[in-house]
Amino acid sequence: MSDFPHFEYQQNALYVESVPLETIASKFGTPCYVYSRAALITTYQAFEQAFADDDFLICYAVKANSNLAILNLLVRLGSGFDIVSGGELQRVIKAGGDPQKIVFSGVGKQADEMRMALATDILCFNVESAAELQLLNQIAAAMNKVAPVSLRVNPDVDAKTHPYISTGLKENKFGIPLEEAEQIYFSADQFPHIRFTGLDCHIGSQLTELDPFTQAGEKLVSLLQRLKSGNQQITHLDLGGGLGIRYSTETPPSIQTYVNALRKTLGTNKVRLLIEPGRSLVGNAGLLLTRTIYLKHTPDRHFAIVDAAMNDLMRPSLYNAYHEILPVLKRNGDLCNYQVVGPVCETGDFLGHDRKFSLEAADLLAVMSAGAYGTSMSSNYNTRPRAAEVMVDGDTVHLIRARETIDQLTASETILPA
Ligand SMILES: *Cc1c(COP(=O)(O)O)cnc(C)c1O
Repeated sequence: MSDFPHFEYQQNALYVESVPLETIASKFGTPCYVYSRAALITTYQAFEQAFADDDFLICYAVKANSNLAILNLLVRLGSGFDIVSGGELQRVIKAGGDPQKIVFSGVGKQADEMRMALATDILCFNVESAAELQLLNQIAAAMNKVAPVSLRVNPDVDAKTHPYISTGLKENKFGIPLEEAEQIYFSADQFPHIRFTGLDCHIGSQLTELDPFTQAGEKLVSLLQRLKSGNQQITHLDLGGGLGIRYSTETPPSIQTYVNALRKTLGTNKVRLLIEPGRSLVGNAGLLLTRTIYLKHTPDRHFAIVDAAMNDLMRPSLYNAYHEILPVLKRNGDLCNYQVVGPVCETGDFLGHDRKFSLEAADLLAVMSAGAYGTSMSSNYNTRPRAAEVMVDGDTVHLIRARETIDQLTASETILPA
């Protein structure tokens, strides 16, 4: 058994749904991202069911994994989207997304991105500063439009997660301090091309406790009540994303427990509840499949040098993040303590330290929980083409992104004239 539903051993071979990973490696090559359609659908439905009959909208955070096939699957399930760039807006539209289910977050929205989003008639801009609000007002005026806006409030709560992905402390660059946000809402008449329709926060990522969500939720709900008694027409509360997943021994709250806690902070206030889950929707729906190139034994250490690297999956190098690594074929031989590393010329290029397997050269390994912030953070460092991506549906494997070619990597480069 593995801890990952839809990614299970049968005899000694690791499968995704009904397909052996060995088959995928020989057909599509490695490194390769492999997703389970069933895992994605089950998780989306868990969110949906947790809200029961409430008025809610799930806005999947596109940056977690922006592959068109994943976006399109979520479109078919009725999902909305949280975007952070004009590029992500174009992806969602290309995948068939409904603009009236799109919210636009991010501290540095640029004029052309605002124009694009206004022209598309998105549901809401999550505005993160007074300066951004002024620019949006100007641009909307020039287009003869009224921009629907939530202010992203920084509730100053400690998400107790990795400092790089903590966003709700007052020293972080994100959001507007609560008191300032309240003043801006009440100065709405200075912004004739803005309509305040919501209130928003997002306090960080990979949260494994409920407490910070509840604290942030309570601060926002009390502001919501003040806005409502001041006659502001706020129709939705957006509590962001951030629910953690299990990479190894973490025990994050279940989706139901998390959603219940948010609904409880909202109490009897009649507004639509939005959430922006990224990692918790796709993180455990994908893995990175890689093949061992060499086993290298030095007097100090044993290295499994594999064909996936930090450019494919940056999280270990960037946050010292832990990903479970499973052998695709479980062997009965002696266990050896391996450093699982890639071919990139950096000591920080590792996928896992001190992992115990019985391995032979050319064996396949599965780096688990790689569905979120895997391919979307990948790069071409060391002129390495980005990995192929496939989605398994029962006994069928669909290629959803072809492996990049070297020609694609150099296509937009030119040398100086002679
Ligand atoms: C990244 C991000 C999310 C998603 O966070 P997860 O931890 O992946 O759920 C949601 N909202 C905003 C504004 C974000 O920047």
